[in-house]
Amino acid sequence: MPSYKAPVDDALFLLNDVFHLDRYGNLPGFADASPDVVEAVLREAAKFSEEVLAPLNRVGDKEGCTRHTDGTVSTPTGFKDAYQQIVAGGWIGISVPAEFGGQGLPATLTEVVNEFLCSANMAFAMYPGLTQGAIAALLAHASPALKAKYLPKMVEGVWTGTMNLTEPHCGTDLGLLRSKAVPQSDGSYKITGTKIFISAGEHDLSQNIIHLVLARIEGAPAGTKGISLFVVPKIMVKDDGSLAERNGVSCGSLEEKMGIHGNSTCVMNYDGAVGWLVGEENRGLPAMFTMMNEARLGVGVQGLAQSEVAYQNAAIYAKERLQGRALSGTKYPDKAADPIIVHPDVRRTLMTIRAFNEAGRALVLWTALKGDVARRSQDDKERQSADDYMGLLTPVVKGVLTDGGFANAVMAQQVFGGHGYIAEHGMEQFVRDARIAMIYEGANGIQALDLVGRKLGKDGGRALMAFLSEVGSFIQEQSAIEAMKPLVTPLGVSLAQLQQASMWFMQNALAKPDNAGAGATDYMHMFGLVALGYMWCRIAQAALAKLPQANGAAARYQAKLTTARFFMERMLPETAAHLTRIQAGAASTMELPDEAF
Ligand SMILES: Cc1cc2nc3c(=O)[nH]c(=O)nc-3n(C[C@H](O)[C@H](O)[C@H](O)COP(=O)(O)OP(=O)(O)OC[C@H]3O[C@@H](n4cnc5c(N)ncnc54)[C@H](O)[C@@H]3O)c2cc1C
Repeated sequence: MPSYKAPVDDALFLLNDVFHLDRYGNLPGFADASPDVVEAVLREAAKFSEEVLAPLNRVGDKEGCTRHTDGTVSTPTGFKDAYQQIVAGGWIGISVPAEFGGQGLPATLTEVVNEFLCSANMAFAMYPGLTQGAIAALLAHASPALKAKYLPKMVEGVWTGTMNLTEPHCGTDLGLLRSKAVPQSDGSYKITGTKIFISAGEHDLSQNIIHLVLARIEGAPAGTKGISLFVVPKIMVKDDGSLAERNGVSCGSLEEKMGIHGNSTCVMNYDGAVGWLVGEENRGLPAMFTMMNEARLGVGVQGLAQSEVAYQNAAIYAKERLQGRALSGTKYPDKAADPIIVHPDVRRTLMTIRAFNEAGRALVLWTALKGDVARRSQDDKERQSADDYMGLLTPVVKGVLTDGGFANAVMAQQVFGGHGYIAEHGMEQFVRDARIAMIYEGANGIQALDLVGRKLGKDGGRALMAFLSEVGSFIQEQSAIEAMKPLVTPLGVSLAQLQQASMWFMQNALAKPDNAGAGATDYMHMFGLVALGYMWCRIAQAALAKLPQANGAAARYQAKLTTARFFMERMLPETAAHLTRIQAGAASTMELPDEAF
């Protein structure tokens, strides 16, 4: 049975000492997030994740969800009780404005809580997670009447939310979408169509399910410019907020799938279901993107969370499993063999995952903090620059943390040898669960294209220039500090390579877009390495500041510095290979005719 201990102290170190949450007191909600409040919230979330959700992870995987003949769906044993605790604890609304029943705390805090929930039980955490995404879209785009009708119950958690984009013939290319919306005389619409792969589409956890659905209003233009967003409740809601009759939406079947068995993945049939327009006609995609940006950050967190829990279990196992002797001579002569943690190759594996996780957590929080500034600041310039940063970094966080999350789950599984492949230790579940995060919310290849094709050149490259200049100034400033030199010097090399790659795209991709397409994934990972390297420098800066008065905690800060060095020496240099591949262009990738494959 795998175990999980939420990394509360690491999150507190990041929030308090690296990113100084207290410096954002001018933003609404931040003054309430005093260090005491933040710590209490995180310790409570940790307890719930460790004691309630983690033991249900295996149960959910084995039992999965069940669709009954009447179309209802049951979740695995224990999920209902655990969900009641989510509602009782007010976890869904911790960052939602108080006027809709939330606590208004920074969204940055929600990301930490979500990491803990996802590490403990990713399939379960998707039910509240999707609801948070739906809340974000309604908050940003719905009319006051729709907000008043749906948000309070969703924020409370007694109603959950979903997002319905995918159809059998259309996943990435939403322009092909066929679901139809017919206007009615009372201002509502009748929605008809089939949606597939809808997470949490039907289940027994909440009284009502509020579907956000993309559909095409009759007569709307073809392609993405004719798509609108609708809110479609499973059960109709009367004006006084009470529930009325069933709407024309039902779960046709559940998908059999590789992982996240505890989450219901549904085929949803809309048969003239009553829905209401959210935002403007034909502007559904930009509205859905509000939800998707939130969700992309959340999916990045899923990758990190699987990597973290897999790492923790691999580290424990490596200290217990006795095989062979250390290359440098026996370390534990009283034992039949040394524990495998003495072997450099096992340690390389553990250090690689650890270096990724700790910087990945920092990158999530830094990006979420920018999101808070973008949504809450009164200062136009500050808001714009935070929004630029969010836009640029969201595909990086999603793509890099989920590719890495899966790769790390596999690496952690490898530490167990054959015992990782069998089910007993739970490692193969982490691998299976982590896999989906690379696919949904825009497959990772699409994240890379979003970064290279849309985000790089947006507003004359303003966001990219700001990022490069922030990291460049930091390197310059810190290179005078002896202890920071071994970290900022290699970061400077990789930053220069990232600049070269960006320039190469500007010079070679406009005329030949295949050059951008063929290099996009390399660029996204290169960007991720530089961003993680920057995070390691920020972490090291804070660790160095803490060390003189660290006393008993000195080993913890020393470990940060060692892990930072490992990242710079063993992981960051991959930027050179990415640059070489990008500069090779698309020729050999595209040369063979389609029939040759
Ligand atoms: C378990 C699960 C849960 C899901 N939950 C939801 C949900 O709640 N709501 C929802 O709406 N959807 C959901 N999805 C759907 C998911 O978002 C889609 O599967 C995903 O967007 C990819 O679409 P597709 O499967 O049709 O693949 P396709 O679009 O057919 O893509 C196949 C491959 O081709 C690549 N590709 C496609 N177009 C391009 C291009 N232009 N350039 C380069 N590469 C390209 C993609 O990167 C991908 O690797 C879920 C899927 C699964 C499996």
